[in-house]
Amino acid sequence: MIISGTEIAQHIKENLKAEIDVLALKPKLAVILVGNNPASISYVTGKGKACASVGMDFELVRLEDTITQDDLIHEVEKLNQNETVDGILVQLPLPKHIDTKTVLEHIAHEKDVDGLSAYNSGKLFIGEAEFIPCTPLGVMEIFKYYQYDLSGKHVVVVGRSNLVGLPLARLLTQANATVTVCHSKTKDLRKFTQSCDVLVVAIGQAKFIDDTYVVNQDMVIDVGINRTEKGLCGDVDFEKVKDKVKMITPVPKGVGPLTIASLLTNTLQAYKRRRYDR
Ligand code: NDP
Repeated sequence: MIISGTEIAQHIKENLKAEIDVLALKPKLAVILVGNNPASISYVTGKGKACASVGMDFELVRLEDTITQDDLIHEVEKLNQNETVDGILVQLPLPKHIDTKTVLEHIAHEKDVDGLSAYNSGKLFIGEAEFIPCTPLGVMEIFKYYQYDLSGKHVVVVGRSNLVGLPLARLLTQANATVTVCHSKTKDLRKFTQSCDVLVVAIGQAKFIDDTYVVNQDMVIDVGINRTEKGLCGDVDFEKVKDKVKMITPVPKGVGPLTIASLLTNTLQAYKRRRYDR
């Protein structure tokens, strides 16, 4: 069975829209986009459209790629101070002369809807998450949608980035799965991937996981987005793997739409916390 990320994302967005409409809420997401990277422009456009589809306000701050780190931080701080803005996202990657970590650390904790600051990463790791990074949260939505009980299941996560692999491993552990995290130094990767119930791949290597890595898994979730001459593809060789496992996400229309839906979820969460939880 092919898992439709678009369908699950639609379900999430309908619930968000209903809540926003019924309670007449006005959450607002601000996105900072530095430079003219076509992929980044396309991601940001998608985020703007997603906000509109659920009735959220969206503000795009476009900056030249020659901007200094100090000036960029100043822009972040202006959004921190802006009472009408609930969530702030700095679109990555940033130009090489800018230290991404330093910039992200300047986003106010209560507006860090990408959940990537040290504060929000730390809160997640001690089990008191305030904002869960959008892609791991999007992956968890798949299990929720299909009521797949992770308890006692062996999940292998290939990739250990702070953006995807590690926060996802934490969430899976909290859901009582037994989690193995693999990476580029893992010896005999197949030994792990073949023996799990669920395989999640987030490595950024086009079609790396083929049918020799899987044995009738319950689910294979492909987080990868790779731009090749033939278009977008994931880290999993979808054509080779799809008939060898029970459920699989495609690329595109798999985890991507769920990442955006999670951004909206976090923005509404930020809005409600800033107004009602103080
Ligand atoms: P990173 O480059 O930060 O991390 C990649 C991870 O994969 C590293 O831990 C690396 O290991 C591991 N790795 C790389 N090659 C191999 C290999 N051959 N075997 C085993 N492990 C390997 O990537 P991200 O986590 O940021 O992103 C991963 C993918 O997910 C990318 O394609 C990205 O575009 C996509 N992505 C998709 C999103 C979506 O919404 N669908 C959102 C975010 C990312 P090591 O640590 O040893 O170097």
